[in-house]
Amino acid sequence: MEIITTVRELKKCLHLAKKQGKTVGLVPTMGYLHEGHLTLMRKAREENDCVVASIFVNPLQFGQGEDFESYPRDLKQDSLRAASVGVDWVFAPKVAEMYPQGFENMNTFVEVSGVTAGLCGASRPGHFRGVATVVSKLFHIVEPDRAYFGQKDAQQVVVIQKMVQDLNMNVTIVPVPIVREADGLALSSRNLYLGSAERQAALVLSQSLQLATKLLESGVQESDKILQQMTELIQREPLAALEYLVIVDKETLESVSDIQGPILIAMAVRIGKTRLIDNIIWRNA
Ligand code: AMP
Repeated sequence: MEIITTVRELKKCLHLAKKQGKTVGLVPTMGYLHEGHLTLMRKAREENDCVVASIFVNPLQFGQGEDFESYPRDLKQDSLRAASVGVDWVFAPKVAEMYPQGFENMNTFVEVSGVTAGLCGASRPGHFRGVATVVSKLFHIVEPDRAYFGQKDAQQVVVIQKMVQDLNMNVTIVPVPIVREADGLALSSRNLYLGSAERQAALVLSQSLQLATKLLESGVQESDKILQQMTELIQREPLAALEYLVIVDKETLESVSDIQGPILIAMAVRIGKTRLIDNIIWRNA
């Protein structure tokens, strides 16, 4: 496995592989790799001749006062992990490589409207513009046949799928189910921020989703009823502050009150200073 830090070098490697007719899978990440990321990479390994994993903490998708500076970084450990699942190239550019003129001086952005209005888009203005722009840059650099995204960031999957469809990008988006700890906590690089009491408190996210699943399985179809019981469960945890909790259509991300088709139940909860997200997709309605 090779670690590549420049666009020029990566393009050179990819050009050669593509000339030989090889397919390329891309896994975009911000690094500090865990089993969730590695699951995406394994799937990419299974389905493509070559695998590129990008590791880039993208300043453009962080808002003022968010954790861009303190976001965990460990390229050495990440490279070992990526190599262990058969990644061919880790692309780990510096900020100046991705934004030579400075990310504050960018002129061109990819803005996906509609599906970015609610959920994380509402509480993190500019976040999805940063995500769509950097993913679009990565797609242009790598020109992958397939790109892998985790359902953990369910809204991100919808946003990227919309972008690809609207702009006729020649890449297949492959969503990958959420990987969880044995006790239900969704794996996240930000779990590192949690102290031990907070780690315990963070279980309210997955527990409230389990409660929702139980209610749906017992035939409850009114979103209000489900949201109310979930909210109560989360509010019983003193270390948790609910940012948003929604039941929305899985494709349009528009609010659903009477559950008939596939829905997404998604939330953001602050546990102390750490903002965590989690969700489930319910298809059996
Ligand atoms: P990040 O490094 O947090 O930007 O995540 C990179 C990719 O890994 C994104 O597509 C995430 O959705 C995905 N990912 C992160 N955590 C998980 C998880 N627990 N299960 C599945 N995919 C994940």
